[in-house]
Amino acid sequence: MTTERERSYYEILGVDRNADDAALKRAFRKLAQQWHPDVSSEPAAVERFKEINEAYQVLSDPKRRQIYDMVGRAGLGDMGGSAGAPFGEGFAGFGDLFDAFFAGMGGAGAGARRGRRPAGSDLRYDLRIDFADAVRGTDKEIDFDLLDRCETCGGTGASPGSVPSTCSACGGRGEIRAVRQTMLGQMVNVTTCSRCSGEGRVIDSPCSACHGEGRVRRHKKLRVTIPAGIDEGHQIRLSSEGEAGPRGGPPGSLYVAVHVTPHPSLRREGTELFHELEISITQAALGTRVRIPTVEGEDEIELRSGTQPGAEIRLRGKGVPHLRRPGSRGDLHVVVHVAVPAKLSRKQRELLEQLAAESGEQVLPASGGGIIDRVRDALG
Ligand code: ZN
Repeated sequence: MTTERERSYYEILGVDRNADDAALKRAFRKLAQQWHPDVSSEPAAVERFKEINEAYQVLSDPKRRQIYDMVGRAGLGDMGGSAGAPFGEGFAGFGDLFDAFFAGMGGAGAGARRGRRPAGSDLRYDLRIDFADAVRGTDKEIDFDLLDRCETCGGTGASPGSVPSTCSACGGRGEIRAVRQTMLGQMVNVTTCSRCSGEGRVIDSPCSACHGEGRVRRHKKLRVTIPAGIDEGHQIRLSSEGEAGPRGGPPGSLYVAVHVTPHPSLRREGTELFHELEISITQAALGTRVRIPTVEGEDEIELRSGTQPGAEIRLRGKGVPHLRRPGSRGDLHVVVHVAVPAKLSRKQRELLEQLAAESGEQVLPASGGGIIDRVRDALG
């Protein structure tokens, strides 16, 4: 943009500052029809359209519009200020946007892109790992069947020694364009080339190994690095490890969906681990050392005398590593439960009664369970 004074996004779209969504959309639509590089022959059309697009992208997003209203373009930074990022990559981006906007109007942009071969499918692999492996990170070998690039023809689909030829019907563009006059002005009508199905190339002599597909079914082995701190439900994306596209089209991605087998006595919440520890009333009253499970194995901790039910002992750095902050780990929380004995031997009863007497407590025999206890006393 080379104007002396930068025009505001509102000026670019020709709307006032209170314009609502519908008004923005109307203005953008009108300007896009005028300045889309597929329609306009003006040399400035590309720049103009970028500007219009950028203005609309910002104003149609309530959050970005608010920031823009307060501090202008500078405040948007990477979110899409003067960099004009989202559609800066040539005409393919314009086409996509145009398609989205004029879908159903049967206008320009609908249909094939220039000589593009379809992409391969994305694949999903479900991988189960141990609790400890999820916390510490690991390497796993996985294997699966997929459509992979044909080695015989290098993925082109053409027999070795031959090459696919440029489609004579569309000149390699993959689409047939016709300019026509409409109510909205000059529009370019685009249809997919039927001879090459939009790929821009035709194979005269197909590869015998893949029958011209450019890909064959194969068993594949792959090592996957599982980062420390991964959790149930996370997916690892391996771009280009999915299926090969036909006739050299771009490969899809492989998504490894991770499932973590739970730990028998550690519960995980994000980076924090919890262990429910049960101790007796005497352990709670007198204090003790107990062994508790950790990711690495076991640890001994000390409980002070007079530990209360519900007390929590926090072992710093014994939790799960942060996935995106290497070197930093969560904590292990030991939550104390005090178990009251459900049955007492005669001796235990006597000792507890002595304890009550020593503490000056009055313990009256309870009805119900008391009778059974008395019978047991009589038998014992
Ligand atoms: Zn082949």
